[in-house]
Amino acid sequence: MTDIEKLKSVFHNDENCLKFLLVNNQIERCDSCGNEEFYQGSDFIKTYIKICKSCKMKISPKKNTLFENVRFGLVTAFHIYLETKLNTEKIRSVDISERYNITQKTAWEFLNKINTFNFNYNIERYKDIEELENEVKLLIAFGY
Ligand SMILES: [Zn+2]
Repeated sequence: MTDIEKLKSVFHNDENCLKFLLVNNQIERCDSCGNEEFYQGSDFIKTYIKICKSCKMKISPKKNTLFENVRFGLVTAFHIYLETKLNTEKIRSVDISERYNITQKTAWEFLNKINTFNFNYNIERYKDIEELENEVKLLIAFGY
């Protein structure tokens, strides 16, 4: 398996993608009331949503990330992201469109978003693929 294939197998369902986003989520303050404390109870674990302790506003781990308001599945979006970040060859929207069964326009828009997005987390910060893979596996093993 290549590094990309290994990572794709880690991010094979919405749950794992959301866990990764939750851990890397840097939302520290509620947009609605400015409070900085969140519940991390059973709802948090079951639904991967942060809940403001003050106003009870629900905050998705996708908020303020590349994956907010994407018009196709989260797993697909993760896989496209991994390809663009880890492939040495240039990724073309026509190839993404065919591989993931989305329109070329949608593929182009998402690739453009990846290239212009101001990340609040990134996969490159991990020293190597094993480190990222292990982190995600640990989170899953501990039922994060
Ligand atoms: Zn709040």
